[in-house]
Amino acid sequence: MGILGIFSNKKKPCPICGEATPRLLATKIVDSTPICSDCGIKISMVHTQVSNLSLEELKEHLAMREENRNNLEHIFRPNRIIPIGFTNLNIDEANKIFTIPLHMCGDVNNPPIFKFEELTGYELRDDDGLIERFHKGDTAPQLTSAAYEPASRMIDRVGKDDNKPQDISRGFKLKLFLANPCWNQMESSAGSITARKYRFQQEYIEHLSKLSMVTAALTAIMGVDAAGNATQSNADSIAEDIMKFKRLLDGGIITEEEFNAKKKQLLGI
Ligand SMILES: [Zn+2]
Repeated sequence: MGILGIFSNKKKPCPICGEATPRLLATKIVDSTPICSDCGIKISMVHTQVSNLSLEELKEHLAMREENRNNLEHIFRPNRIIPIGFTNLNIDEANKIFTIPLHMCGDVNNPPIFKFEELTGYELRDDDGLIERFHKGDTAPQLTSAAYEPASRMIDRVGKDDNKPQDISRGFKLKLFLANPCWNQMESSAGSITARKYRFQQEYIEHLSKLSMVTAALTAIMGVDAAGNATQSNADSIAEDIMKFKRLLDGGIITEEEFNAKKKQLLGI
């Protein structure tokens, strides 16, 4: 589009609300029809789907988004709120629904509500690769051996000057796989750690331990089928968590004492 094209859009009204659309960065739907940014932020679906929307489909979507807002206000009652990076996994166990408010999903004050049965998998990664993966139908989360033997991968990747202590950093990411008309996957930051070399390994383990709250909750969400029947007992998911820490113990990452403390905590004894 040339300069003239940009200027000719100047006073084109938004086909949804009638406001003048901004010339640049306007969200475009089918046939490059621009809509205003106020309407654009209300959309919550995979970015590449948006430009294929007809005006009618967009109106339907926005009506659904209003219904979502209404449901958040009147139905959604999260009883578990688990921090992930800059956001939270909010779980309403009674209604079997959850949200993760993310900017990439549109208005963070109106995060899409997902049903338990729409979650089909998750992957937890750090900058170096996969840490843990679980997809519906798997018998247990797949833990990559590298992640649970961190001693082998805690290589200082910043500079070679040993006289000058430097921080090591890792970023974590959580990806959810969804069977939802608007979202087939969503990725969230799952925090990061930065620490001096001698502290790094411990910080890494502590961070993984916090994230195990998130992954255990996601596994539990997937363990409940559409009819609301638990297909995986709570005891099973506790056993999985204990196995994670057992690997850390076997890898020499945590001490016997730390393992036993964690085991007692998980078993609630
Ligand atoms: Zn508008």
